[in-house]
Amino acid sequence: MKQVADRDPDRLMRAILSRAPVGIAVIDYAGRYISVNPAYAAIYGYADVEMIGQSFLMVFPKDAQDSVLARHQDFLDNGGDLGGEWPVVRRDGGQLTVWSNSVSFPSGGRPDRLVYVLDITEHKKAQAKELVAATVYQTTSEAIVVIDADNRIIATNPAFTRLTGWTFADVAGRDPRMFRSDRHDEAFYSEIWRTLRVEGLWAGEVWDQRRSGEYYLRDTTITVVKDALGNVKNYVVVFSDITKRKASDDIIRWQANYDSVTGLPNRHMFGDRLAQGARQATETGMMMALLMIDLDRFKEVNDTLGHSVGDRLLAKVSARLRESERPGDTIARIGGDEFALILTGLADASEAEAIARDVLKRFEVPVKLGYEQVFITASIGISLYPGDAQSTEELFRNADQALYAAKAFGRNCLYFFTSALQRAANARMRLANDLRQALTEEQFVVHYQPVIDLKTGLIVKAEALVRWDHPTRGPVSPATFIPLAEDTGLIVPLDDWVAHQAIAEVVRCRTVYIPCFQIAINQSPVQFRGNDLSGIGWVKELARQGLDGEAISIEITEGLLLNAEPQVMANLIAFRDAGIKIAIDDFGTGYSSLAYLRKFAIDTLKIDQSFVADLGGTGFDICEAIIVMAHRLGLEVVAEGVETEHQRDILTSMGCDFAQGYLFAPALPADAFEALLGAQVGRSAGPMESRMKAAGE
Ligand code: C2E
Ligand code: MG
Ligand code: MG
Repeated sequence: MKQVADRDPDRLMRAILSRAPVGIAVIDYAGRYISVNPAYAAIYGYADVEMIGQSFLMVFPKDAQDSVLARHQDFLDNGGDLGGEWPVVRRDGGQLTVWSNSVSFPSGGRPDRLVYVLDITEHKKAQAKELVAATVYQTTSEAIVVIDADNRIIATNPAFTRLTGWTFADVAGRDPRMFRSDRHDEAFYSEIWRTLRVEGLWAGEVWDQRRSGEYYLRDTTITVVKDALGNVKNYVVVFSDITKRKASDDIIRWQANYDSVTGLPNRHMFGDRLAQGARQATETGMMMALLMIDLDRFKEVNDTLGHSVGDRLLAKVSARLRESERPGDTIARIGGDEFALILTGLADASEAEAIARDVLKRFEVPVKLGYEQVFITASIGISLYPGDAQSTEELFRNADQALYAAKAFGRNCLYFFTSALQRAANARMRLANDLRQALTEEQFVVHYQPVIDLKTGLIVKAEALVRWDHPTRGPVSPATFIPLAEDTGLIVPLDDWVAHQAIAEVVRCRTVYIPCFQIAINQSPVQFRGNDLSGIGWVKELARQGLDGEAISIEITEGLLLNAEPQVMANLIAFRDAGIKIAIDDFGTGYSSLAYLRKFAIDTLKIDQSFVADLGGTGFDICEAIIVMAHRLGLEVVAEGVETEHQRDILTSMGCDFAQGYLFAPALPADAFEALLGAQVGRSAGPMESRMKAAGE
């Protein structure tokens, strides 16, 4: 009682007002502050004395003051309602949102107004943020699932339904385990949970199943949300569907590293594996071997049977090669018909040889391609690391040289890299360089080998054969430098130059000795394939000299006809249109096909000298068959490499038309050759005897 009696109600009221967290003010009828409590002044950033006597409009933005005044008047006159949110301005210009309401209370004459105010600025900002968050949640393309601490789904967003096919109603309260696919084992999920416990976050790719049962890959982030005490409140799972992206990534990665025809690692991956093998060899002290495997005459198969059959053959061959692969080895396709086998962990070279022999053996069985049976062999070059090479580049070069040697050795064999090979390769390279100069420095000469009409025994034609008189090495055989000229592209100007010489020569032969004389020139398949020869220099020269096409004939090889490239066809037609006769050189050694002879309107076959040399054996039947067949097709036949009278007589009895060979004459320098012609027509072009002697090959 005493206590109560001690309290002065007015003092108590003032104490309450001064401490109340709510802003309270009294405003008179004219709108002036009569009293404000500290909370009120603090909201607006003034001292209470600064507000007393001022118009209450001071806290409103200028542009809002008219409407505020109007509502204020309405409140006073009609008892309107001032409760609600108001935008106001602090003394320092800061903008606030307040919630306030007013009650009028009588004070003698016109009523005063009691205002109470709460600063709700922060609350409003939070509300706005929540609105943004909610919008994102609703509209994002990423699926969001919220799970509570007891592992029950408590919220999902629309993207979740789009991605998975499940609505929230389907999954509400359920364990998210329901989405699991059988593509991950228990350990995978345990690891996710472990990471979440330790780090509070897990991100990765997960295969799940949609409602339809379809598997899909999702890129997933799981975040643990904890309360202030550190207890798990929620798990928020955010994910998107990356099945398609992943699939195309995989394809791109695959294409970058594998060959699409055979499925074997490609050149790129081969490079990686070779480097890896070299590191391993250095670390373990074991040996690595590189086997370069090249299919023999694959191009012919490809050209005869077509590219799709060729591809199938490559795929079958790869499968066979894989059988020789041991764990840790790599078999790769590094070019058209070129494969590489990397052998690691070898104790010595004989292991590599055994595997190479094993590879060769696998080619003994023909490859079945539909109805076709294809016999194909391979050549293998082997180089060892670190024995033969210091780097992978060198190893590769060496194996390639060994392969080159294996091919030269007669194919279907293996060849180890040796230092002698290295020397030979260097010599080839130097020769290739010299070759470039040879043309400009006129080191070439053309020799002419007579071709005899077997019915009369008279020279009626000749073949132009190029010779290289190397400044330091002396004569170099065309068998050596023609392939080099083909590799370097020099064959085109070289053959054109030879043709010009031959034209000049045929002009002389025709005017001086035999009016319808003909000289044959050899044309490399290399230039036939890549170039348009219709306008080539020597064909024009022929016309300029007023010669008919028959003055020059060209010799090409069978292989060229197998290639159905339009450019080859166009060149053949251009030559034929110019009246130039076409002969097939070395006939019988390649893929002989009657159809081709017909299709390309060939005029002459030149029986390869190997059959002539073997007339005592199987060559007999072959020569006879070629002659009979050629005559049926209306072609003439030249026998090459006739060295004995016996061979000449057999060929004559078979009806062979022409012959060339050492029996009659080797290829001779122009003057010696002309001397022969002169002798034949009884017109001497000079002291023939001496020239013949000087010219001996
Ligand atoms: P090919 O066109 O088959 O020329 C015939 C080859 O056989 C020539 O060798 C010739 O000297 C040789 N020969 C001639 N008679 C006999 C004989 O009775 N017995 C033996 N064992 N051989 C004989 P060569 O001159 O060394 O030419 C080799 C090849 O080089 C030629 O073979 C030809 O394919 C090519 N070649 C020569 N000159 C040219 C050319 O100007 N351009 C092109 N693209 N290739 C050429
Ligand atoms: Mg020839
Ligand atoms: Mg020949």
